[in-house]
Amino acid sequence: MDLKNDSSTTIMDFRRKVKNFIDERDWNQYHSPKALAIALNIEAAELLEVFLFQSDDFVPKNLDSLTDEMADVFIYLINLVNSLKLENFTEIIAQKIEKNAIKYPIKEFSAKNYKKQ
Ligand SMILES: [Mg+2]
Repeated sequence: MDLKNDSSTTIMDFRRKVKNFIDERDWNQYHSPKALAIALNIEAAELLEVFLFQSDDFVPKNLDSLTDEMADVFIYLINLVNSLKLENFTEIIAQKIEKNAIKYPIKEFSAKNYKKQ
């Protein structure tokens, strides 16, 4: 199974790839949900480190350090999804986007409206 591009790769493809990687190394014994949540946050901190002491509009010329950490965050998230045996993470994401849309209605929360005030 090759993960080639955003258009043809599914969340299930990532779940299988990450599961295989973990199974081949017999790392499941270390990957409790708590351990994975901690690891995910450590990777998120590594992502922040790329921006540490930089200006607000800083973007590194070479994106490799940034994209590596973004991938680490995503991989741990997928690993956590697998660990919790969630059946349909796509539906969970879709429902959360809907919740956010209700919580932040466009009329009230559009940045355009903030500028008028
Ligand atoms: Mg990392």
